[in-house]
Amino acid sequence: MKRRQFIRFGAILGALSLVDKPKASQAIGQSFSGKTDGPLVLSTWNHGLAANEGAWQVLSKGGTALDAVEKGVMVTEADLTNRSVGVGGRPDRDGHVTLDACIMSGDSRCGSVAFLEGLAHPINVARAVMERTQHVMLVGAGAKKFALEQGFETAKMPIPEVKKDYEKWRKENKDLFKKPEINHENHDTIGMIAMDANGQLAGACTTSGWAYKMHGRVGDSPIIGAGLFVDEEVGAATATGLGEAIVRVAGSHTVVELMRQGIAPEAACKEACMRIIRKNKDLTGLQCGFIAIDKNGNYGGYSIFAGFNYALRNNAGEALIDAKFDRNW
Ligand code: ASP
Repeated sequence: MKRRQFIRFGAILGALSLVDKPKASQAIGQSFSGKTDGPLVLSTWNHGLAANEGAWQVLSKGGTALDAVEKGVMVTEADLTNRSVGVGGRPDRDGHVTLDACIMSGDSRCGSVAFLEGLAHPINVARAVMERTQHVMLVGAGAKKFALEQGFETAKMPIPEVKKDYEKWRKENKDLFKKPEINHENHDTIGMIAMDANGQLAGACTTSGWAYKMHGRVGDSPIIGAGLFVDEEVGAATATGLGEAIVRVAGSHTVVELMRQGIAPEAACKEACMRIIRKNKDLTGLQCGFIAIDKNGNYGGYSIFAGFNYALRNNAGEALIDAKFDRNW
């Protein structure tokens, strides 16, 4: 059986077979999903499988975690069938596809772009902000000006199929102040975290955000500490889901800080979800998920509602893992 088929038909089995047995929890948290030795990459959602493969081409050759996460999420940004990341992403209420992305390395260097239009790979621009400017974040027209000056690839968005869907949506949704519904189709950011052969950590996060959002809206994904946080002293975490709720608890930073206190990755992700649950009376449609790795190679994920999964790639192979969750829809 081909490896992909193996995953599709035996995700859980695959996950269990390729990871080392979890060791007894040495932490305050009760559980973690696994531990791996050597390089490791973890990404949100099914699209993480292909993205991880991109990252693995770098990691398996001894490349850095930073290069790996950039290469990895570029796969998703370039996937024209993906409606929530990159060129194939859905637009906002005014018909503009506005992209958000950030990147961070374990030594706390980071770069971010938000509300960026017309660039094929926002993650490249985010990395350039980190490496070629004195700043952490550029947004909107300024981010675009910088990206064009740096010679990054442009792309026309929305692509025709997406434009057609948008026009239909506009006809059916005259009240533009109505809260757009969140579902699996309109919010699926790719967040990726990796550890390389030298134990260095990095992460990347990129999205077209909440479909049909207000023009100008920015979610958690490009916000360092919300959509992504990495600290080589501890570990890395990234988020997906309703960005507004994740920003309010500085979600990914929260996960890393909980791990700093000795809490295992899965339990730290769970506590960040529980914090969101405690702060929100109305949980309708409020899906959020986190994934995390610690500097020792332990990893885990957790979501508020069922249905969140994440992709793993390490020396033993790949797997798609269903995250534990607090409640059913
Ligand atoms: N977190 C993203 C945002 O709020 C969307 C998602 O992950 O689904 O823009």
